[in-house]
Amino acid sequence: MPELALELASYAGLAAALVDGALDGRRLVRALATDVASAEDLLAIAADFEVVVPLRRDTAPWLLAQAAPSPRLVVRQPNYDRVSANHRHDVDLRAFCAALAPGVPVENVPACILGRAPRPEPTTADAAMLRPDGRLEIFRFARRFVADHFYAQALRCRGCREAATCRGLHVNAIRAHGFAAMTPLS
Ligand code: SF4
Repeated sequence: MPELALELASYAGLAAALVDGALDGRRLVRALATDVASAEDLLAIAADFEVVVPLRRDTAPWLLAQAAPSPRLVVRQPNYDRVSANHRHDVDLRAFCAALAPGVPVENVPACILGRAPRPEPTTADAAMLRPDGRLEIFRFARRFVADHFYAQALRCRGCREAATCRGLHVNAIRAHGFAAMTPLS
């Protein structure tokens, strides 16, 4: 069965629309929460899809308060197309990762900051890049391209055991916070 990941502004009606964990013949495997309330609503749905919570200043306290986290919970550091958004939303990644319950998968944070292996992000086709006629909408395509591809390593990453597979940090995270957090693993 084809698989589906959702990133919606509202998930109202999702629980009623799911049939055996599927929507319109596609198995729902992942839903990106918008905020804490959305994460709680998604986790309350009796299904097995993962609930991905964006790591931000407004979600971090709730994430850290999860004494017995749901096995469906995933944390993801978002990428932003404006540095101002990094300044507004980003937490101290290293401190957050050290305090997070150890079994919770974390995406988009390098191993040197996370302190363990990050969970690889699934490859998805972003349908939001398409116009109703199926052709690419160039501005949404450009936004997705910047979010997914603009990464950089620090020069010192060359000596890291993860250098061949790690992408480093998103460029706007580096513009906002510098390279200092990247510390090569021996
Ligand atoms: S390659 Fe760089 S960013 Fe990635 S884990 Fe190593 S030091 Fe950290």
